[in-house]
Amino acid sequence: MTDAKLIDGKAAADALRGRIAADVAALKQSHGVTPGLAVVLVGEDPASLIYVRSKSKQMTSCGMASFEHRRPESISQADLLTLIDDLNRDDAIHGILVQLPLPAHIDEHFVLNAVAPEKDVDGFHVLNAGRLAAGIGAMAPCTPLGCMALLEEELGDLSGLDAVVVGRSNIVGKPMATLLLHANCTVTIAHSRTRDLRAVCRRADILVAAAGKPELIRGDWIKSGATVIDVGIHRIATESGKSRLVGDVAFAESRAVAGAITPVPGGVGPMTIAMLLGNTLTAARRIAGLLSDT
Ligand code: NDP
Repeated sequence: MTDAKLIDGKAAADALRGRIAADVAALKQSHGVTPGLAVVLVGEDPASLIYVRSKSKQMTSCGMASFEHRRPESISQADLLTLIDDLNRDDAIHGILVQLPLPAHIDEHFVLNAVAPEKDVDGFHVLNAGRLAAGIGAMAPCTPLGCMALLEEELGDLSGLDAVVVGRSNIVGKPMATLLLHANCTVTIAHSRTRDLRAVCRRADILVAAAGKPELIRGDWIKSGATVIDVGIHRIATESGKSRLVGDVAFAESRAVAGAITPVPGGVGPMTIAMLLGNTLTAARRIAGLLSDT
């Protein structure tokens, strides 16, 4: 058996950004609207800083406006809510992203639900989660949207396929399962209490790994020819004392069995940011009254 095809998330994200940039230019010309994203970063977490910089660079390279709001770790919840309220009212801002994690003294759910649902480009507001579940014009979370785009590009129509999602977080697992269901897959959601995870995974035509556990999914858990989307990303130490990035899927042994598989890095990660740009463009169009809500 030959190795699985690599699903190139970087190339897909580049192509998507090209389409978004063209749409942004058209929106500016036709309606004088420049989509704007505000990123709120609390504290000095180095990984968060890198993500925020990368998002900001990609926004501006697509012709959108990016506004960074950095606040100290010690900010009170009330002050953070005041900032979000200001951004909700700001007409130049179409998307608001609160970089996670937030410090322990701040109630994450409360803050995320203070973002105006129409500017909730992360899709974390409870109203958007409900709209997604009901299948009505939601702003869906970026990582599952990116996974869906890769799957549809790879497989076309997903109707009738058996999909297994490993992980049930509000950010990845649940919305991923919902999107697969809307695409007419037969969906199983697995989690830490699932019995015989290997047997469950082996049923999958589409396997989405979002457990946050390095190399949890082994090659012999994968059905021959399955399409494998690896959401996990972990930096692990190697024997030589260096480090390397791995996903939730043991890559080499899985590639020998799967039909197509995303690498880590270069798979889902780049698509997540591209989808954030896409959601910001969608928000700007909706706010300008150019898209209906459903
Ligand atoms: P969470 O920790 O919030 O959720 C993990 C889920 O996996 C939980 O539902 C948990 O089950 C389940 N799980 C944990 N261990 C096992 C196990 N041994 N067997 C089966 N299920 C298990 O993580 P996230 O959803 O936020 O993220 C998942 C991964 O995706 C992480 O590695 C994260 O870094 C990565 N990620 C990558 C992104 C990207 O752009 N590439 C974006 C977002 C996340 P239970 O509910 O029972 O505890």
